[in-house]
Amino acid sequence: MGRIRQLDAGLVNQIAAGEVVERPAAAVKELVENSLDAGAASITVRVGDPCWVRLEVQDDGEGILAEDLPLAVARHATSKVRVADDLLACTSLGFRGEALAAIGAVARLTVRSRPPQAPAGAVLTVAYGEAGSPAPAAMGPGTRVTVEDLFGRLPARAKYLRSPSAEYAAVHQVVARYAVGHYRVRFRLLRGDPGAEREELATQGGEDPRAALLAVFGTEVADRLLPLASEAGEGDGITVSGFVLPADLHRPHRRWQGLYLNGRPVANWTLRQAVEEAFRPQVPEGRHPGFWLWVTLDPARVDPNVHPAKLEVRVDGERLVAGRLYRAVAAALAGSSPAVPLWQPVFPTSAPDPAPAVAREAPVPAVPGPVPAPPAREPAAPLREAVADLVPLAQWQAKYIIAQGPDGLYLIDQHAAHERVYYEHFRRLAREARLAQPLLLPWTVSLSPEQWAAYEALKDGLLPEWGFAVDALGGRTLAVRAIPRGWGEVRADTFTALLDAYHQGGFGPGHSWDGPDQGALAMAACKAAVKAYRGLRREEMGALLAALAATADPRSCPHGRPTMLRLTLEEVDRRFGRSS
Ligand code: ADP
Ligand code: MG
Repeated sequence: MGRIRQLDAGLVNQIAAGEVVERPAAAVKELVENSLDAGAASITVRVGDPCWVRLEVQDDGEGILAEDLPLAVARHATSKVRVADDLLACTSLGFRGEALAAIGAVARLTVRSRPPQAPAGAVLTVAYGEAGSPAPAAMGPGTRVTVEDLFGRLPARAKYLRSPSAEYAAVHQVVARYAVGHYRVRFRLLRGDPGAEREELATQGGEDPRAALLAVFGTEVADRLLPLASEAGEGDGITVSGFVLPADLHRPHRRWQGLYLNGRPVANWTLRQAVEEAFRPQVPEGRHPGFWLWVTLDPARVDPNVHPAKLEVRVDGERLVAGRLYRAVAAALAGSSPAVPLWQPVFPTSAPDPAPAVAREAPVPAVPGPVPAPPAREPAAPLREAVADLVPLAQWQAKYIIAQGPDGLYLIDQHAAHERVYYEHFRRLAREARLAQPLLLPWTVSLSPEQWAAYEALKDGLLPEWGFAVDALGGRTLAVRAIPRGWGEVRADTFTALLDAYHQGGFGPGHSWDGPDQGALAMAACKAAVKAYRGLRREEMGALLAALAATADPRSCPHGRPTMLRLTLEEVDRRFGRSS
């Protein structure tokens, strides 16, 4: 007898389900898409803690007829596509007829629904692939889909779940993405046990996308939005609208980005590249600009059927769309971008530097302190000498130091310079013994869901190893009782910055401080460094410049921003018509 056998249908479904619902956030995405396809004006997402125990999406859309319920949860059953041609011009978010079946194969799924015109609702439950039969249910119009014990009978799958807070953070992101993309719809996200739920996100719906951006990202984003010019279209059936953030608001992550193609959030490399290109060169390598863009085009030109979760899409005429995006974004930025600089970065900066050897032990001053001698060695040596020769003349705008050097006038960004100094200091400390330093007054810090996920991952390992002593106070609030010794001016926001850094990319292999992206240290340095808008005395300026000269690479802050601009003597002579 041969050894190859046909898999039974239940197993086939479970395997296929893995591509559609690989984690709770994916289930939420599918259910929210169904609600949007049903024309909902209001969508409420409720999740238990952990979210895989219970998650629920409720809407006020068109509902499902009782007689259709068994089909709704069957594989390859959909109301959205009937013939192959429909697929070519698909305007709905769903079309594969797979999501409910997939979720029902790996969880206990309960679908309650009542079309607005129907006199009563109906309910149907599927438990790990076994569908019950529809029963009447008393309910208002709309649909409520509940998913319980996701992967409950599939330990092999359950073990890939991350921590409750990490999975929750992913859910949060999904809801945020759709709440912005479909800003006309009211979204609510509630977390916790029934009766003790907290509202984590709420949008009002309405015609202005800015209201949704404000609700989701806060004033930091909403106050700086630059709208794309409204456009008549170029006769090619493509329209582009939305907002960008000024280039200086770049981030190490892409959470401040949304690209919606006919209402579908998409990851399309070419299109995203085109948008990011419009921000260059003002955005350093490894950082990402903010934008939320809505593109509409003939649905026949979008093929979303290339990825099971429909994240990737293929676009016919991609170059054309990319060009439109580039021009629209560049035009929106043009109003806000500076002219060609007369002052040049002293040394061209590029990516954050790859961990150069630390030159020497120099104590780092809270506000710049003692003057260390510049070490000699390596390629950066001559440039450190140049920096060591700088004489501060004045502080300008409480942000910049004007200094005189042998070859020109220098403008030094006091924050970027101090960041570089702190960065190298922290890196040195991280390699030395780590001791805790108790705080007289513990800090109370409230964490975002993402920060909390990072805290959970680090609380029993790295945090105590580094010298942090932290107590959970309930909710997402912590008391920080001790910090690593030698961290000088470390503040509560330095601590949360570390958690952000971890969330965004971990700390690299072995969770070292200076992992490949050095994100943690760079962020900590940023928070600890003297801020712009702080007056510095002449001695402080001198000390900062000297400390900068002692760093392994004074050219840039750890994020790759330049620390200094120079106006050369030749350039000044030339502009005054003095030179030959
Ligand atoms: P698809 O969305 O690809 O059609 P699903 O498995 O997600 O497949 O859903 C199957 C069908 O169930 C949908 O085609 C739709 O008719 C119905 N349905 C699912 N969710 C809802 C909802 N929230 N409101 C109305 N109908 C729904
Ligand atoms: Mg669907």
